Amino acid sequence: MKIDNYNFAGKKAIVRVDFNVPLDENGKITDDTRIRGALPTLKKILADGGSLIIMSHMGKPKGKVNPKFSLSQIKDDVAKALGTDVKFAPDCADASEAAANLKPGEVLLLENLRFYPEEEGKPVGIDKEDPKYDEAKKEMKSRQKDFAKKLASYADVYVNDAFGTAHRKHASTAVIADYFDADNKMLGYLMEKEVQAVDNILSDIKRPFTAIMGGSKVSTKIGIIENLMDKVDNLILCGGMTYTFAKAQGGKIGDSICEDDKLDLALDIIKKAKEKGVNLVLGTDCVAGDAFSNDANTLVCSSMDIPDGWEGMDAGPLTRDSFAGVIRNAKTILWNGPAGVFEFDNFTAGSRAIADAIVEATKNGAFSLVGGGDSVACVNKFGLADQVSYVSTGGGALLEAIEGKVLPGVAAIKG
Ligand code: AMP
Repeated sequence: MKIDNYNFAGKKAIVRVDFNVPLDENGKITDDTRIRGALPTLKKILADGGSLIIMSHMGKPKGKVNPKFSLSQIKDDVAKALGTDVKFAPDCADASEAAANLKPGEVLLLENLRFYPEEEGKPVGIDKEDPKYDEAKKEMKSRQKDFAKKLASYADVYVNDAFGTAHRKHASTAVIADYFDADNKMLGYLMEKEVQAVDNILSDIKRPFTAIMGGSKVSTKIGIIENLMDKVDNLILCGGMTYTFAKAQGGKIGDSICEDDKLDLALDIIKKAKEKGVNLVLGTDCVAGDAFSNDANTLVCSSMDIPDGWEGMDAGPLTRDSFAGVIRNAKTILWNGPAGVFEFDNFTAGSRAIADAIVEATKNGAFSLVGGGDSVACVNKFGLADQVSYVSTGGGALLEAIEGKVLPGVAAIKG
């Protein structure tokens, strides 16, 4: 079912959202992007005359009640964003009465799903090596089904709008869908948009297709790098990964971050790119710092010849120009991961150059998708989020979707 074709009038809708918003030490929201992202779906349900049961996780309470991760902290913000009162169910698995009492237009927010280990469905307190692990896992899977069934019992219709967790087969993101027939389960607007954006990148590729992968480590990005190699014309690898590649090629990288056990992998990526005719673009110069701090002294040097006591922390001017040149010519762009330690203002130039070039290419008709927590933080920091084609709310989910993996949260609804 498509959400646009569904009339929620008189129905109780249970909606999985991703309200895993960052909080400060006083429990105040520091970035409400995720709440805003879910509003079109939530408002459509209320406007139709449906009642709304909102469920989400927050943080990693690991199956235990922990007030630090209580969704009660954000109840008032959700109410404000929706423009209506929000009731709160302090136990997500004991909310039958509260759900039954909901009238059309009313909203109930359930407490953090991950206060129950059943949500994630992983056995707790038992090591993977333990001979009893498989048995414990089986038991937990059965408890997960019961938990999902309980959640499902609150509502007539299920909507999944939590793209950020769509790559997880959790009770509320996938298992619950089994308890609704095809006419009464659907993706929310945010999920639809995310799925469409990935589809644009994967199926209707206008060339050249340029992917920019940054961040700190090769190891966490290797799956997507290998997968992209079959699709892209240009692959820019930047950020902390640069130095693993530099060292692998015999460079001297001073104190830069490096994954010494990934040197062969880096050489393999270089070789594969050559074989597949992919233009692999690596940084040639960098801005190094003499400490991991915004106030560090800086030095522009070759990425292959960084003095001891210094670490590469951003792309250098030659690198920035070379990246920008490649990006400006692209017609399809994917950006995941910053080109430097962008959290420090003095080391943002590389990421800024990438963002500016993406904006320019987008103005010239390219489709640009920016995704993954830190690149999103980057474009937000630069105030450029509305000048790229699409900013994804998903980190891991986005990467897995682009790797070509089927997302359990999507599959549970679409089959
Ligand atoms: P990831 O989570 O792997 O996408 O990495 C994002 C993080 O990589 C950000 O916090 C950046 O500060 C960090 N990063 C980027 N470039 C470097 C670098 N040259 N040295 C250390 N950290 C970096």
